[in-house]
Amino acid sequence: MCGIVGYVGRKNAEPILINGLLRLEYRGYDSAGIATIEEDGIKVVKNKGRVASLLEITEKNNLKGTIGIGHTRWATHGKPSAENSHPHMDNKNTIAVVHNGIIENYIELRKFLEENGYKFLSQTDTEVIPNLINYFYEKTPKRGKEDFLNAMKETVLKLKGSFAIEVLSKDFMDEMFVVRKDSPMVIGKGTDENYISSDIPAILSFTKDFFLLNDLEFAILSRNEVEFYDMNLNRFEKQAKNIAWDMSSAEKGNFEDFMLKEIFEQPKSIRETIGARLSADSKCSLDEINFTKEYLESVDRVYIVACGTAMHAGMTVKKILEEFCKLQTEVDIASEFRYRNPLITKNTLCIYISQSGETADTIAALKIAREKGAKTIAISNVIGSSITREADFSLYTHAGPEIAVASTKAYTSQIILLSILGIYFAEILGVQDERLEILKREILEVPTKIEEILKNTENIKSFAKRISGEKDVFFIRTWYRLCSCIRRFFKIERNFLYSF
Ligand code: GLU
Repeated sequence: MCGIVGYVGRKNAEPILINGLLRLEYRGYDSAGIATIEEDGIKVVKNKGRVASLLEITEKNNLKGTIGIGHTRWATHGKPSAENSHPHMDNKNTIAVVHNGIIENYIELRKFLEENGYKFLSQTDTEVIPNLINYFYEKTPKRGKEDFLNAMKETVLKLKGSFAIEVLSKDFMDEMFVVRKDSPMVIGKGTDENYISSDIPAILSFTKDFFLLNDLEFAILSRNEVEFYDMNLNRFEKQAKNIAWDMSSAEKGNFEDFMLKEIFEQPKSIRETIGARLSADSKCSLDEINFTKEYLESVDRVYIVACGTAMHAGMTVKKILEEFCKLQTEVDIASEFRYRNPLITKNTLCIYISQSGETADTIAALKIAREKGAKTIAISNVIGSSITREADFSLYTHAGPEIAVASTKAYTSQIILLSILGIYFAEILGVQDERLEILKREILEVPTKIEEILKNTENIKSFAKRISGEKDVFFIRTWYRLCSCIRRFFKIERNFLYSF
């Protein structure tokens, strides 16, 4: 994973790119680089280390260009080093590329290019991309940007793997070319300027209108326009979506770090996620899903598929679906699910969870279920994200942008939304169980309870200090005395048993 950013406008691109990279640093931070179009051609500045170390050298370079691309890397091929940092240029120094993803067949492509006289300066998979574009572009009559786009298309046809690519060419000093497959990329629409980024928060301070690029769609960005092309290079129109996230939600404000801020945002994000979906004295309403009792009774199995934290959120709904709805439910890691030929029929219901909606394994796992005719629900925090575009139904958490790597408000909002989904199914199925009413009331109380807990941060700090050095921590909800006995009996020292 890495972060990419781009700017086409009239302002100096360098500070805008650096600002975007700093916000994307959570996606990768072993090296960083930018390329801008200067009067005498493309200028690349890159360095090993964090964006701060890039800043030291960009200042000396006095870049003036108003079009540029940037990258903060998390190396997959080739160690973190200045040579392996992005942007990468072709052999002729005419094309600069930043890439997020992995080119699986880069060894064979590299061999092909070497046989055609190309030399490689890095160990990355990425370096084949600018050289392949150059290879195909050299073969065209070079009449205009259609030829360049065609060279990009030929390149894309050769690539196996995942990519979000930004390309600058010396022949097109006022444009930027982009394409993606299985790696995230959004285009921010400005006035007399346009932006590219791996995620929305990185450019939210510049615009709230976004074009969401689908797999294997190309875009050409100029100052006044964004042109979209499909794989047949037919031009098509795309509507920008307004993302109503508050700019301050992508800023740290008075908090020391994003994680702390996001912890304190939980009452708000949970309240907004509950919204009008749940109330104590009426049935749950999930307008986005129109399931009937007959459909739910026909479901043979439910899969909940996600990666990491989102998968753990998924585990909470398994209990509700099995206990109340009597639906056989399996929770699976997307990276396993997609490679293990799961038992899916037309009557299987598959629920996919991804905060960003761009998790590559989760998207691939969703496509498998769709191919097999199963119904799919996406749970995401980002309106219009890839996963929501692939699924039959989409439900959104309303947590706002989550910047910290360790998930807090997105995770707790997922748990709440999934619980509501489970209760909604139970109500459709006509389940009569007073515990459901209790659960509803308790969910509604969660924001206030979190507020109460967060009032006493001293307690939390001292508890955090107490456990911070422990290797393993077991969270057990009750049975404090029993835990103490176990600790004493087994003389547990490294592991820390604590009861809530
Ligand atoms: N595969 C590329 C590299 O190793 C890009 C990695 C990334 O997405 O950060 O340089």
